[in-house]
Amino acid sequence: MVPPVASRFVAGTTPAEALERARRLNERNVKAIVNLLGEHYDDRPPVAADVAEYRTLVEDIATSRLEACISVKPTQLGLGLGADVFRRELADVAAAAADHDVFCWIDMEDHTTTDATLEGFEEVARAHDGGVGVCLQANLKRTREDVERLADAPGKIRLVKGAYDEPASIAYRDHTEVNRAYEELLEYAFERYDGGIAVGSHDPAMIDRARSLHEEYGTDFEIQMLMGVREDAQYDLAEEYDVWQYVPYGGRWLSYFARRVAERKENALFAARAVLGR
Ligand code: FAD
Repeated sequence: MVPPVASRFVAGTTPAEALERARRLNERNVKAIVNLLGEHYDDRPPVAADVAEYRTLVEDIATSRLEACISVKPTQLGLGLGADVFRRELADVAAAAADHDVFCWIDMEDHTTTDATLEGFEEVARAHDGGVGVCLQANLKRTREDVERLADAPGKIRLVKGAYDEPASIAYRDHTEVNRAYEELLEYAFERYDGGIAVGSHDPAMIDRARSLHEEYGTDFEIQMLMGVREDAQYDLAEEYDVWQYVPYGGRWLSYFARRVAERKENALFAARAVLGR
């Protein structure tokens, strides 16, 4: 069971709890991106177990007629065991998702995984006529080229600022530089892409920028935010835009929760108050 202190950020430990969360979000016009927590596997049993769970999950999403999709992590699908393992498992999950008409996102991990992740994405996006999306990180200097490379590819991109601590030789480390890169990438994507852009950010400035680019170019986009972060804004935005909430669940909730607490002072205060019952 996920203790109350973590339940703001994590839907529960079981698929049923994640789907119940999706159902409640759908009632408020927000769609769910369901993620089974898991990463950095270095042997096959957890990879096989998570792939099996995703197969059942997409079936359950389809039968329950929820507005929901899935998001997977490359090292959860065996990238640490080899690019061939990752591509095979990704093909398996993407095919199951496509069979049930459920969209499949691929999260992006640290820079050592970017090439293999993009290659895997391009393969499954071609195979499933765009029913797949990949996350791109504005803090990486290479991302401008990646956004250009994917402009005419099938599938969607989710643009985020980047959650990994990357070296200065390959990444912008200063917030101002990351924000500038994010805005430039947004502008390029809205101008060149034919839709399929997800703005994965809680930042009001980036969301406003996306809204004005949408007005300027008419390009379709969606907004994605995390469970437990600016939820009131998510419900407000959903009255006008396509809004998706990233809903993590699973037994491996502790490290995800610790990351949310570490990244923002307010989250730490919230956690402390919940533990103290105040
Ligand atoms: P920040 O720069 O953190 O914050 C900017 C402003 O946003 C703040 O000043 C504040 O106004 C507002 N804000 C931010 N957080 C809060 C809060 N908790 N409460 C209130 N206001 C807040 N990263 C990856 O590297 N790979 C991934 O695959 C990935 N997937 C993601 C999927 C989704 C749906 C989302 C939303 C993020 C994902 N990320 C991923 C994380 C991302 O890279 C950032 O680390 C994270 O979103 C923080 O950046 P930000 O754009 O939200 O804004």
